[in-house]
Amino acid sequence: MRKPLVAGNWKMNGTRESARTLLDGIKAGAMAVNGADLAVCVPYVFLQQVQEALDGSPIAWGGQDLSKEPKGAFTGDISAAMLLEFGCRFVIVGHSERRTLHGESDTEVAEKTAAALEAGLTPIVCVGETLEEREQDVTNDVVGRQLDAVLARVGSAGLGRCVVAYEPVWAIGTGRTATPEQAQEVHAFIRARVAAEDAEVAGALKILYGGSMKPDNAAELCAKPDIDGGLIGGASLVAEDFLAIGRAA
Ligand code: PGA
Repeated sequence: MRKPLVAGNWKMNGTRESARTLLDGIKAGAMAVNGADLAVCVPYVFLQQVQEALDGSPIAWGGQDLSKEPKGAFTGDISAAMLLEFGCRFVIVGHSERRTLHGESDTEVAEKTAAALEAGLTPIVCVGETLEEREQDVTNDVVGRQLDAVLARVGSAGLGRCVVAYEPVWAIGTGRTATPEQAQEVHAFIRARVAAEDAEVAGALKILYGGSMKPDNAAELCAKPDIDGGLIGGASLVAEDFLAIGRAA
């Protein structure tokens, strides 16, 4: 009943030329991906190009971050309304690279989630623990805290209009994937946490796994009952790999 979503996170990669090749490749194979929805979250500067390339295709697109503010003196920031103007459906919020490299707090992530929802975007809200936190056995505390901040701000009804992505920080870009069992355990924890607020929302919530998901491990991960697709970094830069994950999900 929950259709999987496979969303590419291009991060800060690509040129106009490489983006064109990648988009052509994804478009060419998208029809063969029946079981999952596809989306790409791209650098802002490629949004117009992506909109032109993907308009009318089954592939959705989005940004990788947004400002919590609607407009004004916020040099370097991009608003939800700007993303909407370029046809975005999704926006990644609270990616661990934003939390770590840009010091985004749980509160700020919650504010950004609210701003995206108010504008009608679907936030892909990222949560996940560091290696140190996993080794200290506080994974659920960390993920629970990150989730609770968003729930407190937008409520369970708001969260029901989000996608959640569980991305263990130690698995991102490292080639070290969480085992399907490790991932499932946290996904089930997230769903139970939401269910405590609203069982219906929890049952319908898409929870993606992210962190070195590749064509050769996607099927096994997505076979787990609470894993509803993936947020794909590195492998989303190769059309065939991205499509293969879509077919596996
Ligand atoms: P990765 O990145 O697939 O390259 O590990 C995932 C992400 O950071 O969203």
